[in-house]
Amino acid sequence: MQIRQPIVAVLGHVDSGKTSLLDRIRGTGVQGREAGGITQHIGASFLPSETIKETCGILYKKLEQAEHKVPGILVIDTPGHEVFTNLRSRGGSAADIAILVVDVNRGFQPQTNESLKILQSRKVPFVVALNKCDQISGWRKSETKFISQAIKEQDASIQTDLDQKIYDVVGTLSILGYQSEAFYRVKDFRSEIAIVPISARSGVGIPELLSVLVGLTQQYLQKRLNQEEKEPRGIVLEVNDEVGLGQTANIILIDGTIKKENSIVVAKRDSVIVTKPKAILLPKPLDEMRDPRDKFKPVSQVDAAAGLKIASPDLEGVLPGSTLYVATNDAEIEKYTKLIEAEMKSVFIDTETNGIILKCDTIGSLEAIVEMLRRSQVPIAKADIGPVNRRDIMEAKAIKENDRHLGIVLAFNVKILPDAKDESEDSHIKIFEDKVIYSLIDNYNAWVEEDTANEEDAMFAELTPIAKFTFLKGMIFRNNNPAVFGVRVDVGTLKHKIPFMNMSGRKVGTIHQLQLDKKTVSSAKAGDEVACSVNDVTIGRQIFEEEIFYTFPPSPDAKKLLTKYMHKLSPEEQEVLNDIVRIQREKEPIYGY
Ligand code: GDP
Repeated sequence: MQIRQPIVAVLGHVDSGKTSLLDRIRGTGVQGREAGGITQHIGASFLPSETIKETCGILYKKLEQAEHKVPGILVIDTPGHEVFTNLRSRGGSAADIAILVVDVNRGFQPQTNESLKILQSRKVPFVVALNKCDQISGWRKSETKFISQAIKEQDASIQTDLDQKIYDVVGTLSILGYQSEAFYRVKDFRSEIAIVPISARSGVGIPELLSVLVGLTQQYLQKRLNQEEKEPRGIVLEVNDEVGLGQTANIILIDGTIKKENSIVVAKRDSVIVTKPKAILLPKPLDEMRDPRDKFKPVSQVDAAAGLKIASPDLEGVLPGSTLYVATNDAEIEKYTKLIEAEMKSVFIDTETNGIILKCDTIGSLEAIVEMLRRSQVPIAKADIGPVNRRDIMEAKAIKENDRHLGIVLAFNVKILPDAKDESEDSHIKIFEDKVIYSLIDNYNAWVEEDTANEEDAMFAELTPIAKFTFLKGMIFRNNNPAVFGVRVDVGTLKHKIPFMNMSGRKVGTIHQLQLDKKTVSSAKAGDEVACSVNDVTIGRQIFEEEIFYTFPPSPDAKKLLTKYMHKLSPEEQEVLNDIVRIQREKEPIYGY
């Protein structure tokens, strides 16, 4: 069985040490130059098994015994989920395995979570590199590169401290649905995620990290990496116009072989193109690079997994994240064209239904965000690539008429065209912009929540308030036309222009005006003593000193209060409302229904 090397991606929060770790892994390769070192690819570096063997030392013994050995690992050079999202393939990932870097002193951070969500949705196995161990306070520097040995050399309190930090990660991962353990305690690598403490700075732990990676790959990814009968395909990472080369695409070849005479089938936004590469390029080894402008060497063929560049004038407009197939005859061209067309159909969304509008920079981010929105049950009307244009805003505007929370635009890492901006301001269409997937969705969800609460507040404020109040003894300022007398608000909020009733449920009248300390006010709260005026009643006939009154919500208001807004009333107000309803239902059984 012919097995290719796994494609390894590095993810994690900003500053957790992803770049340093990649540098360290590549540096390992550079030092191991005599043993084969590393080969530089486009967007990736290849560490052959000889180099890994040299780094891992005795740990490699067990890996060598595997039935199917991988020839090394291909590490993607750019870390972070931005690139990872474009390393997509058929809704899954082109990366076979990932390293999730976590800062040992900070634990999980927002982008750690975001990375994890993306790994989860693409079903990519991963190892946690618990980085910056050298920064644990009191950590003693040692000569060994093996973390298991370095831990033994620490004071007992430092060992406990590290263990605690590992368990913090185990705890967090467990809440997120993963079982995990320090790699030396893992019993079953299939069900438990291995946590490897490392220091990218000193290099300690790198042997263990690499051997866990290779071990996992050899044990569990054989089928995926087997090259027999695999369609030759890759993924487009970026497309550029380069001086001296013209249109080029950086590609990670996932499976199979690409030859110069082959046809390449790949997607643009609205079409599938078939082109023959003008050149296939790889970086020149440093010692062959005489002129820094002359960085690439043309080759006639490349085997997977590899990073390479192809040049062809037809590549302009090819989508980053698009799958690329290598075809050797017309029948294959036709087959792959259909495959790509079907794939494009499943990625872009254009419905006539209610939902949000999403615009992204690449297919990868589009796919990842669509997946996350679906998981949080946000309907999508349109998901596409490119800047936000006026038509997007017009569509959102139409949607907003049916659902104010869906009539919005989410813009991920794309421009907003000036006429779209003007239109959004004129028609109050919200555009959420972000460069972090996680916060884009979070900000939108937070706004929906806040807006729902505001909407609820506004509706609630329209209803007759609930209050209980007492006519104060001796506080008669005028007997009638209008009657003016003093009251104390016992429970709730009293407002002007609302009806009120007495204890037997008879409507007494409407409060015309309220005065607090001789100033007209629109409302008074529990504890306030205010003067109120009421038309068409006479004190001593319809109302009496020391009498207790309730506000009198009309039946529809009572219904809304009972069914929707009970949680906005205090326990005392709830009690008063229940009294009001009980009294009214004795007279009118359908009151409040
Ligand atoms: P990235 O944003 O995840 O790529 O993080 P970087 O690799 O740029 O690292 C962020 C900072 O942490 C830099 O100042 C690094 O020097 C530092 N750093 C990375 N790894 C380690 C480590 O293992 N130990 C220590 N002490 N510092 C580290």
